[in-house]
Amino acid sequence: MSKLEFTDKKKSLLEDSKKKLLLWFLKNKRNLPFRKNRNPYTVWVSEVMLQQTRMNTIFPLYQNFINRFPNIKILSETTEEEVLSFWKGLGYYSRALNLKKGAKYVIDHFSGEIPSELEKLIQIPGIGAYTARAISSIAFHKPYAVLDGNVKRVISRLFLFEEIVGTAKSEKKLQGFADEFLNTKFPGDHNEAMMELGSSICNKVPNCEICPLSSVCIARKYFKEKKIPIFQNKRKKIPIELHFLLLKKNEKALMVKYRNRRFFKTIFTPPFVIIGEKLPAEYRNEKWIEEIFLSKKRIEYPSFRSHSITHHNIKLKVSKIEYDMGYDNDCEVKWCKLNQLEQNFHSSIASKLMKIISD
Ligand code: SF4
Repeated sequence: MSKLEFTDKKKSLLEDSKKKLLLWFLKNKRNLPFRKNRNPYTVWVSEVMLQQTRMNTIFPLYQNFINRFPNIKILSETTEEEVLSFWKGLGYYSRALNLKKGAKYVIDHFSGEIPSELEKLIQIPGIGAYTARAISSIAFHKPYAVLDGNVKRVISRLFLFEEIVGTAKSEKKLQGFADEFLNTKFPGDHNEAMMELGSSICNKVPNCEICPLSSVCIARKYFKEKKIPIFQNKRKKIPIELHFLLLKKNEKALMVKYRNRRFFKTIFTPPFVIIGEKLPAEYRNEKWIEEIFLSKKRIEYPSFRSHSITHHNIKLKVSKIEYDMGYDNDCEVKWCKLNQLEQNFHSSIASKLMKIISD
């Protein structure tokens, strides 16, 4: 199906099922921390946190973040380091920095008030089409349908969308279906209902028996619900080794922010090299870091830990060295107390490195 042409009977069934969906949501919606004391700012923060992060992971972190940065002004005035420290455990740290940048933009360009219009929202750093639609519909009740992973699954099945999802063309079509199915009287609740349905009932193995949309779902009608959506073949995971260096000077460790590296472009880390067979150019290191790793004074810790970032399977290793050195201009450096390494390296990898050192 590519055109949104419905018979009157189908239209009326769809209208009816939008109401059923809303009633189901009002009865079954979870009591999530970010659904309390809602305003455009908290919707923005929660939507950014939820991107690429599991719902359960964000609960305590969301509350801590909002307690520390209760509004845009406070967020815009804080340091990047502090924002990052409240993002620890969520990963993808550029989201936190963009949130802070976005807060400053709202102060400077919109007098501190988050706008409700899509075209203004997407001007704000870090706000893309999805987040703009979520803020506009959930916080301002504007008639925009959102399309996250959960909604895509529901919509694909509901309308039997048999094309590969994830391409620009298919995203556009799915957005068209989502717009068509939007409950324009209650757009915020409708969007949340779709997300909730996708995460609780219409998930990988759908539970159609209890689904409020089962009477109009075309995939279910043709017994295709488990075959939809259709994804492109998954990218193969790339095995690499991240070897960190504890470069010590007077009980302090060197921390580096490499601006042009594949990993950790926005945060300070101990110096590291990436090792792996046939590494593409963007993974290769600058010369100075290779030189310190070649030093005869380097002592390698025997154990390692495993970690995973997007499509990489990573082996973490640590060495230590007492060294005094210059550094490449293409990175920022700072020294931190050895016992505060975890507070200065804003990644869940930090605690794994500490375990390797103490093994
Ligand atoms: S009927 Fe089944 S496949 Fe269709 S939307 Fe509901 S849970 Fe998903």
